[in-house]
Amino acid sequence: MADCIFCKIAAKETQARVIREDDDLVAFYDLNPQAPTHVLIVPKKHIPSLSGACRQDIELLGKLQYAAREIASELGIAEAFRLVLNNGRKAGQSVDHIHYHLMGGRRLMWPPG
Ligand code: AMP
Repeated sequence: MADCIFCKIAAKETQARVIREDDDLVAFYDLNPQAPTHVLIVPKKHIPSLSGACRQDIELLGKLQYAAREIASELGIAEAFRLVLNNGRKAGQSVDHIHYHLMGGRRLMWPPG
């Protein structure tokens, strides 16, 4: 998608602090971190939201989650982290390209706001 910021990061048209990349996904630090460790895990395929995903995306969605588990280990937060997916404006989604937030490094309260 031409005007999608996460597509541009995946295509290296926009800079980001990338910590992992493979054929399917890219992971990079959030510009506006909400925790000491805050990484976004994003598929290269443009999927607007979880509601916009289809059955063909099931394997890809699993890869995103497994990448989160591996990155959490690499960044030393495996013991306690949160994986968040905001779906829809009222749930806090501001970028219309599906992404997981991986957050850790501080006590994370529940319920979230
Ligand atoms: P959400 O509100 O769930 O859609 O999350 C979007 C996230 O993307 C926010 O936490 C933003 O801080 C982050 N973000 C937006 N643009 C960039 C960017 N260019 N590089 C890194 N993070 C970004």
